[in-house]
Amino acid sequence: MKTLAQPSYHLFRFRDSGYALDIATGTVLHLDESAYDALNHLAAGLLPDEVHRQLSARYSSEVATTVRSELDWLQARGVFRSPLTTYDDRENAVYIQSLTQRSTNKIELYLAEACNLRCRYCYVNANEALNNGLMPWPVAKQAIDFAFARSGAADSVIITFFGGEPLLNKAVLFKAVAYSQQLGAEQGKRVSYSMTTNATLLDDAVIDLIKRYNFGLMVSLDGPREIQDTMRPFADGRGSFEIATRNIRKLMQRRRSVTVRCTLSNRWLDRIRIVQFLEEFGFSHIAMSRCTGAVDGLGPYDIGPEENRILSAQDDTFIDRLLSQLERGEKIRFNPWARAIQAIHNRQNHRMRCGVGRGCTTAGRDGRLYPCHRYVGMDAYVLGDVESGIDQGRFADYLSGYFATKQKCESCWAINLCGGYCPWYVSRQDGTFSPPEDWWCDEIRHWYEQGIWLYDTLREHYPDYFGQLIGETPVEPLLR
Ligand code: SF4
Ligand code: SF4
Repeated sequence: MKTLAQPSYHLFRFRDSGYALDIATGTVLHLDESAYDALNHLAAGLLPDEVHRQLSARYSSEVATTVRSELDWLQARGVFRSPLTTYDDRENAVYIQSLTQRSTNKIELYLAEACNLRCRYCYVNANEALNNGLMPWPVAKQAIDFAFARSGAADSVIITFFGGEPLLNKAVLFKAVAYSQQLGAEQGKRVSYSMTTNATLLDDAVIDLIKRYNFGLMVSLDGPREIQDTMRPFADGRGSFEIATRNIRKLMQRRRSVTVRCTLSNRWLDRIRIVQFLEEFGFSHIAMSRCTGAVDGLGPYDIGPEENRILSAQDDTFIDRLLSQLERGEKIRFNPWARAIQAIHNRQNHRMRCGVGRGCTTAGRDGRLYPCHRYVGMDAYVLGDVESGIDQGRFADYLSGYFATKQKCESCWAINLCGGYCPWYVSRQDGTFSPPEDWWCDEIRHWYEQGIWLYDTLREHYPDYFGQLIGETPVEPLLR
C-alpha cells in the first residue's frame, strides 16, 4: 500500500448546499455553513485551534465549539482519519493474478460480426468487424460449453447475445437457448439471457422466445425519425425508423417493460427533445450513451470537449425535470444519475470498474475471446478462444497494461466511486493503453457531485423513488 498526500475528503457546493465526501470511507456529509468553513480551513492546512478562532470570529464561540466537537465525533468514528492509500505494483500484480483465476458465470456471444444497419458512429465498423459474418453453431455450442465450465459452483449461467445485429443469426440464437436450457437442466443451473438488438429483425418467433425466457432486452433507437434515419440507416442507405418502430410497437403489445438504448452523437445535442420522444413512445427505461470513440482520437460523430460543455449545460434542466416528474407522481424513465446514486449509497470501492475479461468476456464469431464486446475485431486484445479457454498470461498482460495507466486516478477524489476509466476507452488499436484527457474525468467527477446532491435530495423528499433506486442495502453513508 502507498499512502497518498492528498486531502482525505472532497469538499464542494452544489445548488447552495455544501458537502464533504470522505474519500476513504465513502461517508457523505451535508454541511451547514460553519462546518463547511471549518473543513475548508482544515483542507487549507490550518490547525484545529486556528480554525476554532476563525469560526468564533465569523459565527460565535458556541458555534465554533459545536463544530469542533462534531468533527471530533466523526473522527472518533473513522471519518477524516483513515490514511488515503492506493495499491503498489506488487499488490496490483497479486490482484491481477487473482482476477485471472476467478470463475464467472457470464458470457457474451457475438452472434453476428455483421449488421444490416450502418450506424454512422459504430465502433464495430471502426474495428472492421462487421464484414466477418455469422457465428456458426459449433462455435456457439463451444462457447456455451466454455461458459458452463467456467461457471464453477455457480448455480446459474447468464448468456448475453450481442453483435453487430444478433438477430441476423436467429437459427443459432434459438439453438443456443435450447442447448443452454438442456445443459442447465443436466447440471442444475438456472440459465438467463439478455440481448441488445436494433429491432429491425424482431418477429413473432423472437418475441415468443424473449417472453418465454424473460430475456433482459435492450432495443437501440436514437430518437425521432430524422435522427434515427440519418444516424442509423440500412446498409443500402434507407432509413430504419419505420421498421424499427413498427417492430418495437409490436413488442410493446406483448411486453410492458421495454428498455431503449439511445446513442447521442455530436450532430444532435438536444437531449430534451430526444428524451421526450422516447418517453412518449412508451419506453419504460431510457439509457443514453454518448459516441466517445476510443482514446486515440475523436471520430466524426464523437462527443468531444466542446459538445460535452453543451451537454453539461443541460444537466440542470434534467435535474429539475426529474424532480418535477416526481412531484407530479410520474414514472421516472430517464435518470442519468441512477448509477452514481447507487455507487454513493453502496460506498462503492472498486479497483476494477467492470467485469472486463470476466463477466464481460465475449466470444467472437470465430470463437476468439475478447475482454468485452467492444473489443471484438481488435486482434491485439484476443485473450484466448472457446476451445482452449482464456490464456492466463495474455489476460494478466492485458490487465497489467491497463493498471499501469491508472496512476492518474491516485490523485483523484473520485477514485473509489469511479474505479478508473473504461478499459476499452483507454485501449489503442495496437494493444497499448493511454489515460483519458482531463475533460473526460472532470465530467465524471461533476457527475458524482450531482449524484451526491440528488442522493441527498431524493432521500429526503422522495423516499419511495429513492428506495426503488437503491434497493434494500444496509449502509447509511449520508450524515447531516
Ligand atoms: S475520474 Fe478519471 S482520474 Fe478519477 S478515478 Fe475516474 S478515471 Fe480515474
Ligand atoms: S471495458 Fe468499457 S465498454 Fe467494456 S465492459 Fe468495461 S466499461 Fe464497458
